[in-house]
Amino acid sequence: MAGESWLELAYVILFGLVMGSFATALSWRIPRGQAWFIAGKSMVRSACSHCGVRLGARDMIPLLSWLLTRGKCRHCGVSYGGRYPAIELATLLCCIGIYFVWGFTFPAFIMMASMPFLVALFAIDVEYFILPDQLIIILAGFALFLIAYQLVVYGSGFGFEAQAVMKLSGAVVFAGLAAAIRAGMNKLLSKDSLGMGDIKFFALAGLWLGLAYLPFFLLVAGMIGVIWGAFYNLALKKTVFPFGPALILTLYAGLILQGLDIVPLAGIE
Ligand SMILES: [Zn+2]
Repeated sequence: MAGESWLELAYVILFGLVMGSFATALSWRIPRGQAWFIAGKSMVRSACSHCGVRLGARDMIPLLSWLLTRGKCRHCGVSYGGRYPAIELATLLCCIGIYFVWGFTFPAFIMMASMPFLVALFAIDVEYFILPDQLIIILAGFALFLIAYQLVVYGSGFGFEAQAVMKLSGAVVFAGLAAAIRAGMNKLLSKDSLGMGDIKFFALAGLWLGLAYLPFFLLVAGMIGVIWGAFYNLALKKTVFPFGPALILTLYAGLILQGLDIVPLAGIE
C-alpha cells in the first residue's frame, strides 16, 4: 500500500471505531424504546447501563477501554461481558471490509455510515428476535440516498439509471418472494416461519443489491440460515432461532461482491 492508503486506512479505522460505539448505543437504546438521536445528546455509549454513572473519556475509547477495565464499570463494578467489544469489533471489521472493496469513495462512506444500523439490527435480532422498523427504514434511506447521489452526480451514460431500476424492482421482488415463501412455509409447517421483519428486510436487501442478486441472496441466506439454525439447535439446544442474522450477513456479503462488480449466479456481470 502506498503512504496515502495507510492514511486512508487510519481514517477508516477511526471512523469504524466511532461507528462501533454508535452501534452499541443503538443496540442498547432501541429495544428499550429510548431515543438515540437528540441534538446535543451523545450518540455513543455515554453512561453505565447498570448504575447510570456518566462515562469519562477514558471509558469511551472503543475496544481499548474494554481491555483496560476488563469489561467492568469502574464505578459499580458490573461486568458488561463481551457484548460491547463484539459489537464494536464487528462494526470496525465491516467498515474495513467496505473500504478494501469500495475504496476511499463516497459510496463507501455511505455504506460505512450504514454499518452501525446493520450491526445493531443483527445484535437486536439475536437478543430480542425483532428487526425494528426504524432501523430498516433508516437503512432503506441510506440505499435510496446512494441511488439518488449516483443519478445526480454522475448523470446519464454510466448505467446508473439501469442500476436504479434494478434496485427499486429488487425491493419489490425480494419482498414479494419472501412473502410467498412465508405463506407457503406457514401452510406446510402450520406455524410461523419467516417474521414480518424478515420480509421487510428482504425488501431492504433488494433495494441495496438489486434484482440480479436475487438468486445469490436466496441461496446464500438459505445456506447461512441452515447453519445458523443447526448451531441454535445443537449448540444452544433451542428450537427457534432468529433468521435476521443470516439475512444481514448475506446482505453484507452482497455489498462486498457489488464492490467487486460480481453478481454471482445471475448469469450476467
Ligand atoms: Zn456502573
